[in-house]
Amino acid sequence: MFFIFVQKYYDYIIIGAGASGLMLANAFGSDPYFKGKTVLLLDKDAKKTNDRTWCFWEENEGDFDSIITKSWNQIQFYGQSYGAAQEIAPYKYKMLRGLDFYNSYLNNIQSYGNVTFLQDLVTAVEDHKNYVDVTTKSAAFRGTKVFNSIFDYTLLHQQTKYPVLQQHFIGWFIKSEQPIFNPDKATFMDFSIPQKGNTRFMYVLPFSETEGLVEYTLFSADTLAEQEYETAIKKYIKENLKCSDYTIVEKEKGNIPMSCYNFSAKNGDNILHIGIAGGWAKASTGYTFMSTYRKTRELVTFLKKNKPLSSFTHKDRYWYYDLLLLDILHKDNSKGRHIFESLFKGSSPQLIFKFLDEETTIREDLKIISSCPKSYFIKALFNRLF
Ligand SMILES: Cc1cc2nc3c(=O)[nH]c(=O)nc-3n(C[C@H](O)[C@H](O)[C@H](O)COP(=O)(O)OP(=O)(O)OC[C@H]3O[C@@H](n4cnc5c(N)ncnc54)[C@H](O)[C@@H]3O)c2cc1C
Repeated sequence: MFFIFVQKYYDYIIIGAGASGLMLANAFGSDPYFKGKTVLLLDKDAKKTNDRTWCFWEENEGDFDSIITKSWNQIQFYGQSYGAAQEIAPYKYKMLRGLDFYNSYLNNIQSYGNVTFLQDLVTAVEDHKNYVDVTTKSAAFRGTKVFNSIFDYTLLHQQTKYPVLQQHFIGWFIKSEQPIFNPDKATFMDFSIPQKGNTRFMYVLPFSETEGLVEYTLFSADTLAEQEYETAIKKYIKENLKCSDYTIVEKEKGNIPMSCYNFSAKNGDNILHIGIAGGWAKASTGYTFMSTYRKTRELVTFLKKNKPLSSFTHKDRYWYYDLLLLDILHKDNSKGRHIFESLFKGSSPQLIFKFLDEETTIREDLKIISSCPKSYFIKALFNRLF
């Protein structure tokens, strides 16, 4: 028999010090309600590199404003036959460098007496009904509740009930010799590029006239060979931005799951999956940062009620909307451009943001839905029901 030598006991163990782990650890450290709770935050990385850039929209001022790098008041959308730059007030589209977030949150966490951050690789998590054992490469810990943000695609791919798409992308941070960007507006989606049977768009964040991020993005089932993203970025910079003299300062890549899979099935009374692992990414867009912020607040309120973690879940009408879109894109991935073009042509960006934030009224939902190609959605609904 194999015995685990438990090194230390904690009330809460958080696995992963990424977006969700740090937001939750910060809440446990800053909310007086959790002052008496001991918290261990584990991550295999020291979180000292700028491994991603987060963007999100938000009305007016927000909690991340002190570490925001840039924000935009206008977004640009390009479809095949429609394009528009629009003011988004009262929203702003905000950008946050991963490293600035990690530094700021780890700094806060260091100042809290009840939260310990430890760099170690988690190798096993075992639920024993009254406690959970977390084994790492160099130690073992026991917690009353565990919040796990380790994500892998295996479970999603083991089922076929819900399609699994990905928002996958490579982005280049470039610096050009000549002015090529308009720093006042972010290109939210540029669908003018070849679709090749998929939903493909360019995403451009200009920081100044000569600096910006150009990202080739797909909403599709399979990732591409690295070369394909890079060739497309190069072509876009040359042909759309009319630039041949530039340097690549930094690169980023990622893939975010887009699925209505029941992520909470893996939760137990004492283990809750958080962040992308908990299904907190918006299934129809891959946007996760702000939904993680909102879910963290919900979770904190929920924990104060002392209920089993397995009951922290809910499915609402937005889940069905996302499911229908994913069903459509899974069946025929080339339909994305038409859907997003109709959406942006028929609705204001403010209403689209409100809808994606899942804050619309039924009447507003109907306005959004009626701006999309209805036959696609009716067919997808029919296929789900029968
Ligand atoms: C490049 C990139 C850009 C993105 N841009 C946006 C954006 O603009 N807007 C948006 O809303 N969303 C964006 N996302 C999606 C999402 O917001 C991020 O992926 C976000 O970081 C997800 O948070 P998380 O806590 O679920 O996972 P993560 O932030 O990835 O945190 C998981 C943590 O777990 C740690 N870990 C993993 N395995 C182990 C292990 N075995 N032991 C210990 N630790 C482990 C990892 O080191 C990591 O720190 C982006 C994602 C990527 C990859």
